[in-house]
Amino acid sequence: MVTAATKSLPERAAQLAAQPPVRRALDWLEQNTDWVTEQHIRIVEIPAPTFQEAERGRYLAGLLAACGIQVHTDAVGNVIGERPGQSEEIVLLTAHLDTVFDEIHEIRVQQKGGRLYAPGITDNGTGLATLVAVARALHEAGVRTGRSVVFAANVGEEGEGNLLGMRQLVQTYRPRLHAVISIDGAATDHIISKALASKRLELSVRGPGGHSWSDFGLPNPIHALARGVARFVRVPVPEQPRTSINVGEIRGGTSVNSIPAHASVKVDIRSESPAEIERLERALREAIQAGVAEEMAQARVKEVRLTIEVRELGVRPGGELPEDSPLLAAVRSADQFLGNRSRLERSSTDANVPLALGIPAVTLGGGGQGGGAHSLQEWYDPTDRARGLQRVLLTLLLMTGVLP
Ligand SMILES: [Zn+2]
Repeated sequence: MVTAATKSLPERAAQLAAQPPVRRALDWLEQNTDWVTEQHIRIVEIPAPTFQEAERGRYLAGLLAACGIQVHTDAVGNVIGERPGQSEEIVLLTAHLDTVFDEIHEIRVQQKGGRLYAPGITDNGTGLATLVAVARALHEAGVRTGRSVVFAANVGEEGEGNLLGMRQLVQTYRPRLHAVISIDGAATDHIISKALASKRLELSVRGPGGHSWSDFGLPNPIHALARGVARFVRVPVPEQPRTSINVGEIRGGTSVNSIPAHASVKVDIRSESPAEIERLERALREAIQAGVAEEMAQARVKEVRLTIEVRELGVRPGGELPEDSPLLAAVRSADQFLGNRSRLERSSTDANVPLALGIPAVTLGGGGQGGGAHSLQEWYDPTDRARGLQRVLLTLLLMTGVLP
């Protein structure tokens, strides 16, 4: 195995890139960005909302199998291909399959100017295309690695997936897991090495419901929830530590002239500080309770009570990669070799799961530029994507080591 750790940073990536198989892999990526973009479009045109990733997963399985990798699908739907190295230890390279677009069943990528437009084109079409490109480059160039590489297109990263696929991967591979590189979105200007903790809750209010005219005076769950939400969104949110709240979904009722029997909200709370998440969760519960109490106090019918139910939709743990981590050194070495500048960032990604367990992990962009993630105007510009592909490849190989 290559004892890269003793070399200075820029030297390590340069020495690695000077090995003929690695040079061939880097060149392959440079010369085949059109093929990568073509695959990128095909992947994105297969809809894959969270919990419905199977068809897109099968397409990814085919692409990985074409690189001579044995591919299987695990119990939760992760598509996994292990590329054996000299040692049993694993570096996991992974990208999530799912998108946030539940209601979209047909996707056509539109090309305008240099940009590609489609929901999910960047998040995470770019990550999946990068996963496939790196697998293909290693195959075409005949690179043999020290540690083994596990390629995984994982399920359930977004929203209520709650990092399902990543949790399963870490559970399966933990004893052999040396490091995790997750690819999510575009760009090469950042290294996500800090996990942003978050909590997602659903609060439901229930009552008997009735007719809007003849039963007027009954407490109304939507009125109660609206009162509660209005209180919650007035709670101060600090700028430091950076913190956010979002009421992302509100549901309830059956018709305009019925007092609803049910109303619910889904709320996302994120912070650099776990204490802030706790504080805001308490504030949310208190606000909804106060809204319900106010609605019942004002209702003419006093003997009817509304009930509140709180359900946890997801908890994403926090964690950080230490400044002296070899994985961080590997990304920085790749950056220096490629003349790329990047900064450390905190975000909520698949890397949360390993980082919370103390397993080295980063999330990188796949290169090119993108914008409008989680919106119908999402776009991707593949210009200069080779740099992003090469950055991921070099980081991976610095972590696996390469056999001559
Ligand atoms: Zn994503």
